[in-house]
Amino acid sequence: MKIASIQSIESWRLRRMIRHQVLNLFKLFLGRPLTLPSLGSMTLEQDDVDITSQWLSDRSQWNNRKVVTDYESAFAEWNGSRHAFAFMGGRVALSACIHALGLQSGDEAILPGYTCVVVPNAFHYAGVNTVYSDIELDTYGLDVAQLEEKITPRTRVILLPHLYGLVCRDYEAIIALARLHNLKVIEDCAHSTGAKWCGSKVGNLGDVAFYSSEQSKVLNTIQGGMAVTNDDTLAIKLKEYYEQAAYPSTERIEQQLHNVYLNYFQQKHPSRWWRGDLAELLYGDKLLISTTQEEEKGRKPSDYGNKMPAPIAAIGLNQLKKIDRFNQLRCETAKHWDLWCEKHGYAKPLVVEGSEPVFLRYPVLVEAERKKNRSWAVKELGVDIGIWFVSNIHPTNQCLLNFNNANIAVSRCINFPTLLQ
Ligand SMILES: *Cc1c(COP(=O)(O)O)cnc(C)c1O
Repeated sequence: MKIASIQSIESWRLRRMIRHQVLNLFKLFLGRPLTLPSLGSMTLEQDDVDITSQWLSDRSQWNNRKVVTDYESAFAEWNGSRHAFAFMGGRVALSACIHALGLQSGDEAILPGYTCVVVPNAFHYAGVNTVYSDIELDTYGLDVAQLEEKITPRTRVILLPHLYGLVCRDYEAIIALARLHNLKVIEDCAHSTGAKWCGSKVGNLGDVAFYSSEQSKVLNTIQGGMAVTNDDTLAIKLKEYYEQAAYPSTERIEQQLHNVYLNYFQQKHPSRWWRGDLAELLYGDKLLISTTQEEEKGRKPSDYGNKMPAPIAAIGLNQLKKIDRFNQLRCETAKHWDLWCEKHGYAKPLVVEGSEPVFLRYPVLVEAERKKNRSWAVKELGVDIGIWFVSNIHPTNQCLLNFNNANIAVSRCINFPTLLQ
């Protein structure tokens, strides 16, 4: 029975691979490129694959905590933060932040009405109520004027987002408002790792911040995240969460390492038109999904809350060495998209005075029809375009009524890739 089912899966993959290669022949014949830039992170390279292979072939160091603390220290230093703790996802790092701030059942958190479902989930898992506030359309951050109206006596914390690699327009004003009302600030730096404001990296103005190294973010460990703070008392509380967190199982770590192969050979390798298929045949059944259907429904996965083990931290450490180079390249590409906006009469995203973005993606508001039907992009630009976010609470179909700006972004914001090879 079992053997038969394995064989049927493999023949299904084989058929798909053959179909793909026939399509490639057509593309060759028509003079079209075989592959397009990926909308994933595009930061994994051969050396990351070599590191992955080493860790898979020698498992003697899998419990070596020093590798993890080396990654945390290197990240803290690079980021200009006093304390950093590595987890298996930005969402878990956010849960650590929620714990650190001592948020409790019945407390209220104000979130942007334009975010990922795993963000409200982290609050709900802790019993914290979420209240949404509308965004502005210059940098897709919280709009400070509308935010102020949402503050109630129960409000304890504001989730301050920096999206697409930009620094949020009302950064300083939101921090000032929070201080005025004695509220805490958690910075969501999942898209903006490395972006700077007045010379320092984002994530250092609020009380706590989290970053993501999920496979579509600024640096890529397939899944992973970091929580940081400059407050020694909050660091003790972050550590408390960290200490009680479990490491993922050996099988789960191995699966994630296999996903490094999948990601590199399918999305980055110059010959991915065929190497991708080979990786699919070898590891396709190991594919990790970032946000499960369970999470989309608001349920907590049973293995939620893990901290980062040594093999994943080793990849993070190597990615961190290259992040400045990649962010530089992203900013170069952004200039190209600037010109495209100017030429076609679209507004460029706002780069706040004194800020240095990293442009994980280049967001533009276009006609709704051009977001719905994206075939024009490949034809006109030679790239596939991203559609972050597809709803107020991405990627669910939850809709917030009367959120004018967020709803405009949902129907009209497309995002260009910024690492093209
Ligand atoms: C990806 C993302 C997160 C969560 O990060 P994970 O590492 O995927 O858990 C949080 N906020 C935003 C805006 C994100 O895009």
